[in-house]
Amino acid sequence: MNTKHLGINSKLIHAGHTEDATGAVNVPIYQTSTFAFRNAAHGAALFAAKGDGYIYTRIGNPTIHALEESVAELEHSCGGIATSSGMGAICTVYLALLEGGAHMVSTASVYGPSRGLMEKDFSRFGVQSTYVDTTDLTQVKKALRPNTRLVYVETPSNPTMQVTDIKQVAAIAHAHGCLVVVDNTFASPYLQQPLDLGADVVLHSVTKFINGHADVVGGIIVAKDMDIYKRLRKAMVNSGCNMDPHQAFLVLRGLKTLGIRIERAQQSAMEIAAWLEKQPEVSAVHYIGLESHPQHELAKQQMSGFGSMISFELTGGMKAGRLLMDHVRVATLAVSLGGVETLVEHPASMTHASMSAQARRDAGFTDGLVRYSVGIEDAEDLIADLRQALDAVSVESLGRTLESAISVPPEPTLV
Ligand SMILES: *Cc1c(COP(=O)(O)O)cnc(C)c1O
Repeated sequence: MNTKHLGINSKLIHAGHTEDATGAVNVPIYQTSTFAFRNAAHGAALFAAKGDGYIYTRIGNPTIHALEESVAELEHSCGGIATSSGMGAICTVYLALLEGGAHMVSTASVYGPSRGLMEKDFSRFGVQSTYVDTTDLTQVKKALRPNTRLVYVETPSNPTMQVTDIKQVAAIAHAHGCLVVVDNTFASPYLQQPLDLGADVVLHSVTKFINGHADVVGGIIVAKDMDIYKRLRKAMVNSGCNMDPHQAFLVLRGLKTLGIRIERAQQSAMEIAAWLEKQPEVSAVHYIGLESHPQHELAKQQMSGFGSMISFELTGGMKAGRLLMDHVRVATLAVSLGGVETLVEHPASMTHASMSAQARRDAGFTDGLVRYSVGIEDAEDLIADLRQALDAVSVESLGRTLESAISVPPEPTLV
């Protein structure tokens, strides 16, 4: 079906799906590593890229292709490349678009491993990088060098929910002759389409909102033009970080409900963020839907909604942050985000523990920061859960020492 003219919720259901001979309503799982050629000429034609068909699943597979086509259409791109994980997508982008001696400018508060991979691994091959606050355009301009090839932006970013102006950054980068890559994981294509704002490449950890059910790890990259798409695909195929057909099937299934999941979760997020702002134990709430957020107006312009990621600072610092983790009941204490279930984590002792306390302050958050990914449970249950947890933290803060607050319970026996 040609879905180009349809609205985004119709695209979520139908884009990328081509009927097979059986009339299957859903894309089947083509769980095969390889595909038989009809004859020698057909095989030769496929290898010469002159015929239709599949060769080998690392290179391409119908289930994976359906997901790639679907996300490519949602992001208004010429094509998609599904990968084994979000990090597989990021590694593919670096590999395809940088070389020894090249330089990249990136968001300082970018997803940690994206920065680790660049600074610890790609640096060994002579790739240089500078990390700046990309919400400040003067910092972006100043960081550009003659050998800068890529400006890599994550927006909204983690865990402080900073919003970078994609249009302005793209104008600066293009004037300098470099490409713009956006990690669109936090917004998803439902809320933000960076290619329309001037980006050249967009990537996602589909582990988060796109799949949305905390049961798959995966990634995807989409490109604006064919030349870049081909470079990215070649890097993915040669490095072997392809997605698996079963993974692709699950992500396609999750993708169908992206719109209704996000609509519901962001409605709850707005209620919870407004409620958190009024709690005495909370000194700051970072949610791009709140007027108090420094880039609220920009978020309104470049996104079609505010999403469901909230972070907030507890006045009680590190100890209160850790104690809260032990007292939430409806929210699950786990990393990751963007699923149907509400997840909570404490960056200073978990995802961002490898940063020094000073580096965390420089990145704009305190040790009392809590990250909260709102799911699709009833908002009143989530609010009641947070209230009882904050009460328990206040009582316990009086008695328990930090050491006793951080003791690890014995491992449960598995049945
Ligand atoms: C989780 C995440 C990644 C990495 O994705 P994986 O699927 O875990 O490899 C990259 N960027 C952002 C913003 C993320 O949240």
